[in-house]
Amino acid sequence: MIKNINKIFNIKFSRKCFSKVISNDLLKKYNNNPVIKPLTFSSTFKINSLNDVTNEKFTYARSNNPTRQLLEDNLAILENGKYGLTYSSGSGALTCLTHLLNENETILTCHDLYGGSKRYFNTVLKNKVTYIDFSKNTLNDIENMFKNELNTNSKVNRTLIFPKKIKIVFIETPTNPLLHIIPFKNLGALCKKYNKLLVVDNTFLTPIFQKPLDYNADIVLHSISKYINGHSDVIMGGLVTNNKQIYDKLKYLQNSLGIIPSPFDCYIVNRSIKTLEIRMKKHQNNAIYIAKNLENHPKIKKVIYPGLNKENIPCHMKGFGAMISFYINGNINDVNIFIKKLKNIPLAESLGGIETLICHPASMTHASVDIKEKNNIGITDNLLRLSVGIEDKKYILDDILKALKSIETNKNYLNDHFLLDL
Ligand code: PLP
Repeated sequence: MIKNINKIFNIKFSRKCFSKVISNDLLKKYNNNPVIKPLTFSSTFKINSLNDVTNEKFTYARSNNPTRQLLEDNLAILENGKYGLTYSSGSGALTCLTHLLNENETILTCHDLYGGSKRYFNTVLKNKVTYIDFSKNTLNDIENMFKNELNTNSKVNRTLIFPKKIKIVFIETPTNPLLHIIPFKNLGALCKKYNKLLVVDNTFLTPIFQKPLDYNADIVLHSISKYINGHSDVIMGGLVTNNKQIYDKLKYLQNSLGIIPSPFDCYIVNRSIKTLEIRMKKHQNNAIYIAKNLENHPKIKKVIYPGLNKENIPCHMKGFGAMISFYINGNINDVNIFIKKLKNIPLAESLGGIETLICHPASMTHASVDIKEKNNIGITDNLLRLSVGIEDKKYILDDILKALKSIETNKNYLNDHFLLDL
């Protein structure tokens, strides 16, 4: 009976075929030279001999994968760095980074930070993080903190088993969502002097407008889910450094923690980065136009966009990006009406995609932040964050102006002079 079934379905033949197909993949039979590097899904790789087990570059895809390697190299090239690493999300990259800390080591960071990073710091890392407002602390203040830490650890608190020591200074600049700018060139030099690592989350500006490694940063972090991928269809994170020792540790952690991206996502991002520069330029041109046209709008209390105040732009910023935050001149009901009236701009989490998105930080990206803290920072109910896309700039502005009009009491605010033609 079995014999007959085998005969009917020609199983013997297909088994042979199956084996041939498998071995065909292992043979470098097609000696072609594709312009676009192929996507490698294989979870494992043939090792030539037992002597090569530890030497082979590709053995198991959690440790390394050719499609991921290509992306990691590309990411490093973009950031003027030597070593790139990718993760299953930006938050995964942060998790890996914080595993560099020893038991007695802590992080100094900015008070205005992406809500998810803050949630991770507050609820997972707990007492390992100190927040400061970098705009209210001079370099001298920070140097004093570093010096006091040395004094405290060596003299006063001799009894402490694990005297606390800042190891990582982690900043976002511009910050999310209030777009505060933290000049970091001198901060990085100070970190080097006191043996700290300066880490810059470069998600908002991307290497097109800011290359932190050129200005004394030790590590750059990315939520690749944002501009670097740019099409709102991948969640991924990345780290880049020039320091081989740090890279080796991070690489070890990447493999041990297992927070890696899929080869398919790496392939997609490898495509995306080829248009990063032209996308960023268009994003920024649109953002300048939108920010200037909203700046004096009567229904808007304040527009925050780095390009509106060019005097305070530090040397490491070669552009302003395309994130705009603004306070509606009204309450949460007005904000609700405005959002509902937007026809083409969706209310959605995330940023950096080619389509314009609007976000209400207080209830979305920063929902996990304590209400008192949100108010202190300035993340109030009337704050909105716009990720300006690459659509026609007038199409974006028109949608915003019409939606603002719906909450406008004095409908005559829009006159001919209001629209700046940039
Ligand atoms: N850093 C910044 C500035 C972000 O805006 C985000 C996400 O919004 C992250 C990190 C976290 O990235 P991911 O969502 O890819 O985990």
